[in-house]
Amino acid sequence: MPEAAAAETMEDRMAPVSEWCTCGHCSSLSPVENVCCRETPKVMNRCEQVGVYTCITDHPGFQLVALNPYVLQAVYGTYVQLFGEMPETMLNSRYRHLAYRNVVRWCWGYLGQHIRVVIPSCIVTRIRQEFPEDGLYRGFLPPLHF
Ligand SMILES: [Zn+2]
Ligand SMILES: [Zn+2]
Repeated sequence: MPEAAAAETMEDRMAPVSEWCTCGHCSSLSPVENVCCRETPKVMNRCEQVGVYTCITDHPGFQLVALNPYVLQAVYGTYVQLFGEMPETMLNSRYRHLAYRNVVRWCWGYLGQHIRVVIPSCIVTRIRQEFPEDGLYRGFLPPLHF
């Protein structure tokens, strides 16, 4: 993509959310993160498989895959097997990381270790709301260690 076109795309992405989001659940994060689930084919596939035409966060599996702490404990097991223990940061941020990871596995399948995808803003926003950076988890967040 020519540089001018790339710059233009970035600018568009800082336009009001309603100009690039059609699912109604995205929020403005940053030019590269402002991507809607409705323009992310792999995420759309998961939605269409179960007849959801609104937003991935309305998918009946979303809560389980992205927000359920016990599912994420299991994801942690796979993480440890592959990479070893996670650095001891705030529990909320470790859960957030596992949630992003599980969503990618769910929608994209296996990606090579260095391949990155942009997780739609509505997903990132919902996960951050559940596992806030500067706030408390609403409820009991179980420990990740075994
Ligand atoms: Zn959206
Ligand atoms: Zn969405």
